[in-house]
Amino acid sequence: MSALTRVREKMREQNLPAMLVSNVDNAGWMTGFSGSSANVVVTPDDALFITDSRYTIQANEEVKGVPVTSFASPVQMTDFVAQQLKMMGVSKIAFEANTTTYEQFENLKGKLNGIELMPAPDIFTDLRLVKSPEEIEKIRAACQLADKCFEHVLRLIQPGVSEWDISLDIEFFFRRNMAEIGFSPIVASGQRSALPHGRASEKILEAGGFVTLDFGAKLDGYCSDMTRTMVLAPLSDRHKHIYDCVLESQLAALAIMKPGVAAHDVDAAARDTLAKYDLAQYFGHGLGHGLGRNVHDGGRLGTNSKTILAPGQVWTVEPGVYIAGFGGVRIEDDVVVTETGIEILTHSTKELLVLP
Ligand code: ZN
Ligand code: ZN
Repeated sequence: MSALTRVREKMREQNLPAMLVSNVDNAGWMTGFSGSSANVVVTPDDALFITDSRYTIQANEEVKGVPVTSFASPVQMTDFVAQQLKMMGVSKIAFEANTTTYEQFENLKGKLNGIELMPAPDIFTDLRLVKSPEEIEKIRAACQLADKCFEHVLRLIQPGVSEWDISLDIEFFFRRNMAEIGFSPIVASGQRSALPHGRASEKILEAGGFVTLDFGAKLDGYCSDMTRTMVLAPLSDRHKHIYDCVLESQLAALAIMKPGVAAHDVDAAARDTLAKYDLAQYFGHGLGHGLGRNVHDGGRLGTNSKTILAPGQVWTVEPGVYIAGFGGVRIEDDVVVTETGIEILTHSTKELLVLP
């Protein structure tokens, strides 16, 4: 089923007569457009893709299944949208209440004279959570590239090298392989590994502590997101113990993932395992998030999540233990939910590497 058909189905469920999709991520997901300016009007039996003149050629090449129109300066997007809605005979239209700013709303309201605006609930998070086979292939390719990157960067993980140089090496590897970085790599060593989002700093790696790498590619519009934690020799019993506990916690979560299981139960499987070792208090974030066009796509594997696992969903599974003044461990894989369980898309080793 096409994305547009799925959007129309949701609109029917929510009694939305027509919808203005102004969030460019949602518009891109629905049409295949990869540029940064787009509005899409969707009605039960009509649709229109609107962009500005910078993207006219690109939109005509990329957008599938929706007619494309564009405008040029000095016309503004909202003026043009209002004009097109009138031509399409739309009298009432829903806007994306969760991503439209108050200023955009006021601006649009001022231009629409006569056309009624209504807020639409967020329909895209649920829709985008379940990926098409084509989307899964793209995520799989981005994961393969992350695995290759890990293999490539391992030679640098040794005392004397700076976190920053490791980060640059990761970025350069992705760029050289025709990808973008999905996000600025996290490279956190020693006590800094207790920072869950410790961006690479000028710190020099030192013997005897954890090094956490969290990185991912954006390839053909889709992301990967993987974390591995290593130890710089010598390995202490405490480092080994904490690593083993986090790995056991991740494996416990992966083991119960299949269609029909509640996302909060997957989170609980990881959290309960850490609790056995009195480490749950050091695990402050949710277990994982949806992954797709954005690194943090919709959906959460967390204590309060209402989501039920279903085939086609792609999740990160990333428990962590972060102890201030000591260090931290996170292990993160990307998985797709299948008809019977899951397939893990990131394959880098999770055996504790003691380097160099
Ligand atoms: Zn990550
Ligand atoms: Zn993540």
